[in-house]
Amino acid sequence: MPIRKNLELLEELQKIDLGFEYIKNTRGKLPEQISELKEDFELKDANLNALKSQIEVIEKSQRKIQGDIDISSEKIKKYQAQRYEVSTNKEYEAINTEVETQEQKIEDLEKQILDLIAEEEEVKKEIEDLEKETKDIQQEIDEKEKELAETDEKSIKDEKKLTKKREKLVPEIDAKILRKYTRVAKSNNRVGIARVTKSACGACFRKLMPQVVVDVRAMDRYIFCSSCSAILLPEIEAEEA
Ligand SMILES: [Zn+2]
Repeated sequence: MPIRKNLELLEELQKIDLGFEYIKNTRGKLPEQISELKEDFELKDANLNALKSQIEVIEKSQRKIQGDIDISSEKIKKYQAQRYEVSTNKEYEAINTEVETQEQKIEDLEKQILDLIAEEEEVKKEIEDLEKETKDIQQEIDEKEKELAETDEKSIKDEKKLTKKREKLVPEIDAKILRKYTRVAKSNNRVGIARVTKSACGACFRKLMPQVVVDVRAMDRYIFCSSCSAILLPEIEAEEA
């Protein structure tokens, strides 16, 4: 088969191979973004659970303090009833002191409850904010996963098409130059064949000797870039106006 035909087929093959590369890149940053979002979600979710446990602890303390208040209230009632049964001033004073002690205790406990209520409100607000954040993150994860699934679905279809084209094309190309192309493409960031562009190699952009440019244009033998080894194709002539 003439060199020119092989070169044309190789260029076609190059387009297909770059197509595979393009498809591979379409997933882009999505998988990375999704895993970052999931990490963030888990962190916030753990935080949320910790805050919810905190609420339980606060409520338990409230119940405990309320119980203590009830006990003190009962005691006061009892002392008040005893007031009518005492006969000496001393006993009366003693009861009054007890009542005052319990009243002071209740006052302190009520203050503690108020502090706990304030703390609980604060934590509940944090929970509310965090729940909104985790909900938003989950929504973002869902959207990105959907996008990725759609991309992958399209990629599979496109890859199938390219694979079919490639399988049809490869047997038509001279085996020796195909091996060379494969080798160069592998080491050359997928570029095995390139057009001369402004007297430079289209793959590595190294300037070419004028004689090389002329030889490439003749297309009667394979010419390789002396720098990156890419198989060289002549520059596309500017279209006539
Ligand atoms: Zn080159």
